[in-house]
Order: sequence, then structure tokens, then C-alpha cells
Amino acid sequence: MNKYFPIAMILFVASSFTSFAQKNVKQTPEKPKLIVGIVVDQMRFDYLYRYYDKYSKGGFKRLMQEGYNCKNNHYSYVPTYTGPGHASIYTGSVPAINGIAGNDWYDRDSKKSMYCAEDTTVSTVGSTSKAGLMSPRNLLVTTITDQLRLATNFGSRVIGISQKDRGSILPAGHTANASYWFDSASGNWITSTYYMKELPSWVKTVNDKRPADQYLKQPWTPLLPLSDYTESTSDNQPYERSLPGEEAPVFPHKIANYEVLRTSPGGNTITKDFAIDALKNEQLGKGKFTDFLAVSFSSTDYVGHSFGPNSIEAEDTYIRLDRDIEQLLTYLDSYLGKENVLVFLTADHGVANIAAFNQSVNIPAGMQDDRKIGKALDTHLKEKLGEGKWIEYAINDQIYFNNDLLASKGVKYETVFELTKAFIMQLEGVANVVDLHNLSANLVPDYQLGKIKNGMNVKRSGDVYVMKKPNWMSGSSMMGTTHGSIYTNDTHVPLLWYGWKIQSKYTTQRTEIVDISATLAALLDIQEPNGCVGLPIQGMVKE
Ligand SMILES: [Zn+2]
Repeated sequence: MNKYFPIAMILFVASSFTSFAQKNVKQTPEKPKLIVGIVVDQMRFDYLYRYYDKYSKGGFKRLMQEGYNCKNNHYSYVPTYTGPGHASIYTGSVPAINGIAGNDWYDRDSKKSMYCAEDTTVSTVGSTSKAGLMSPRNLLVTTITDQLRLATNFGSRVIGISQKDRGSILPAGHTANASYWFDSASGNWITSTYYMKELPSWVKTVNDKRPADQYLKQPWTPLLPLSDYTESTSDNQPYERSLPGEEAPVFPHKIANYEVLRTSPGGNTITKDFAIDALKNEQLGKGKFTDFLAVSFSSTDYVGHSFGPNSIEAEDTYIRLDRDIEQLLTYLDSYLGKENVLVFLTADHGVANIAAFNQSVNIPAGMQDDRKIGKALDTHLKEKLGEGKWIEYAINDQIYFNNDLLASKGVKYETVFELTKAFIMQLEGVANVVDLHNLSANLVPDYQLGKIKNGMNVKRSGDVYVMKKPNWMSGSSMMGTTHGSIYTNDTHVPLLWYGWKIQSKYTTQRTEIVDISATLAALLDIQEPNGCVGLPIQGMVKE
């Protein structure tokens, strides 16, 4: 035997051990292979902690414990609705710049209400309903997903998925490969001709399996025994809205059709399943460039509006969404490995407690119907200024004056504003009436003034902003709740980052929703969206 054999053997064993060890050390790539953006519709910040003990190890808790938790993350504008929220997350911009001034706004040119994702030049792909007449054309700026596509000469692939069209379309941007949303007329995942002429075969296969049908066959029952929902009020409350076809707002809830499915956890589960189907079938994250999947969970919003944040229904919806997120993260582990995926989770807005609930615990709150305000004001202006329709439209806590009438009657804008302010200020639940043409003349704290400036789009917003008192909202009954205000219950939402190079840490420093796209641009070394006003969040990445 060769006398050098033992040394050669040792070297051989050592070198094979080294290469074996190297193979098992997971290498974090320079860029993530996949970004998964998760938006939870109407998720207020406190839900991360209020339901914490009920969450699984692998869902919200995993994102919080293994990731970077921005605990003081806010919207920097009013009105806080779904369309503006998704637009702001993905453009790093605000309604004044990105044009998404509400879910709907009044279009002065056509003299009609405009929906944020409306597009009558396209048609539905995947069903015969009109739910597909949608595109991102009303969005005036680029998204971070557009910038990723531009940066890679369209090598990166971008797909948006949500039950709500606007929750899928606005995140996916102008140059998306696809955007899918749920059509409650047919129960299909659909898209529009803006993106493609025909659904891909894998989407047709999913639709053929009728994934939503199983949730119509069984009622919505709570996951845990009712007595375990210690973070919520008892099940039957007079201020909770029953689902269509129900006598009382109590479990078990009958899911009468696909539309009602939206207001139950099953709506989120089919969204999660469809997101995993998209990853698998499109092989997202397995190509040369970073891909982007933008998912938005909408059922939390519908449930929140009907039953409120203090209901067992809301708690159960979050506990079940937590299980859905656990499944998505577990799937990503085996599909790509955590080190290859960058995940962020946030919300499009928060919500107020139901006014009657607040009143029951002595917190000031109430309802003041916007349509009634508009009508009463119009009557008042007729008395003061003469016949005519003085108010053209009222929406999003804003009033649009009839400028043609003002001009033809020779009435100055200032005169109408002063009459309007004096009339509305005396109504219950109003904090301030703000002149949007002369913002510096209003007695409004700088903090709020900044939010108003950011949120009002000169061409699409109204003339006057009616700021309600905290916990006051528009509605004709005392049932259910909403969002859209300037206050922290609507602006303070979660922001969690996880995977890839993200370290386990938290910050209580102020971050803003517009920082999300700025941060993604900085992490990816790409140009930020063209209307971006955010700043990259510091200290998230392992150096
Ligand atoms: Zn909502």
C-alpha cells in the first residue's frame, strides 16, 4: 500500500465533508427569487397581539418572531379605503399623486361616479358577468411591481390575486403578467382583456373544480368552542349585521351563495389555495429573475364591516386566516426555501369599533349619514342662494359644489364655502369643515393637515372635506362599522417583513405605508415607482 495513503484518505474525507457541509448550508441569494406581498383587508395593528395566544406557531407568529416587525406603521393620508390603500402600498405614493382618491370618486368631466379600477374599454375573461370590466388605467403612476418588470426588461413575472378586483389590479400594476379576482356571479377566478384574451389552462382547471362550492355546502361554524373566544363580546349583539337570509347575527352562519362567501373565512381560504396554485403552475421564483406574487385577503374586510372588531366572527376570521398564512409559509418552505423568498404583510386600512359598541363602554362615538348631510345642505343653500342643485355630489366625506351653477349665478366660491361650513359645523359628530382650495387657512393641526394634503387629488377630490369627530362614521343605522377616517384606528396597521435576508427584530420608530415600495426598491437595487414619496426602512437586513 502507498505510504501516503492515510494522508490522502484524510484529505479526501475532509474535502468531501467540506463539500457535504457546504451543500447543507442554505445560501441566501443576492436577490430574492420571489417576493410575496400579503395585504390583509381591514387589519388593524392590534389584531396581531389581541389574538396572539390563539394563533398557530407557523402563521402571524412566525412572521413576527422570525421577521422584522414595524410596530408603528401608519397611513399618511385620508381617505383610508381599500383602493387608495392598495395603491399606496404598491406605488409608495399618496392619492394626491397616484390618483386613487377613493374606492369611488366623482368625475367632474363625465358628471358620473368613477370606480377606482373601472375600465369600460375592456371585457371579462373567465365568465359572462361584467365583473371583469376592470384595469389599472385610473392609476396615474407606476407600481413597485412595474418597476421590477422594467428593471429586468420584463424578465420578472408579476401576478396579482384577490377576491376584490381592486385588491389584485392595483398591486399588480400596469405591466402585470396577470391579475385575477373572484367573480361572485359565477364563482370563477376571472380577469379582463386588459391582461389576456383567455384564461391560462391551469386557471380553467381550477375553476372547473369549483373550489368555492364546498363552502356553500356547509355553514360557517367557529373553529374553537364559543367559550374560548375570550377576546370578543358574546355572539349575539344588536349592533351586528346578520348575513343575508339570517334571522340573527349568530353561529352557525349560513353561506347562501358566492356573494355571502366573501363575508366568511372561506373567502380567504380559496384565495390562499389559488395563490399556491399560481406559484405551482406558473413556477414563480424558479426563473432567472425575481418574481412577484401580490395576494390580498378580502374576507376580513367584509366580516369586519358586518360584525365589527369585537365580534367572535372577526376573531374566528383572523384565527382561520392565521392557519391559511401558516399553510402558505409552509408551502414556500418546501417550494423555494425561506432564504429565497421575501415576504411582507400589511393592511390597506384599519377600522373603527362599531359606534354602538363604543357607546356601550362610554367611548364617544356615533353615526351621521353623509347622504342626509348632502341633501340637507342643498336645501339650506337653496334657501340662501336661490333655486338650483348647489351640491353636485357627496362622497368620501367630501362635497363637490356645482361650479357651473356658481358661475351662471355669479356666486363666489367663498360665499358657498362659508354657508356650507356654518351649516355643517352645527351638525352632530362633525369635527371640522375643511376648505380644500385654501388649506393653509383652515384651523387644523399640522399632523392632520399633512394627511389631508396627501389624500386629496386636485382633479378627482371634492371642494370641501367634512372631518368627523373620532369614532363618528357615515351610516343610516347603528349596525356595522366602517373606516376611511383620518384617525389612528384607520391609519395604524401591521407591517411585517420575513424571509431572505430579513433579521428577527422589531422597531417602534414611525414607518409609513409609502415606505414599503421605497424599501423594496432599495433592497432590489431598482428604480423606485415614479410617484414614490416614501423612504427605505433601515436596519431590517442582516449585514
Ligand atoms: Zn372596507
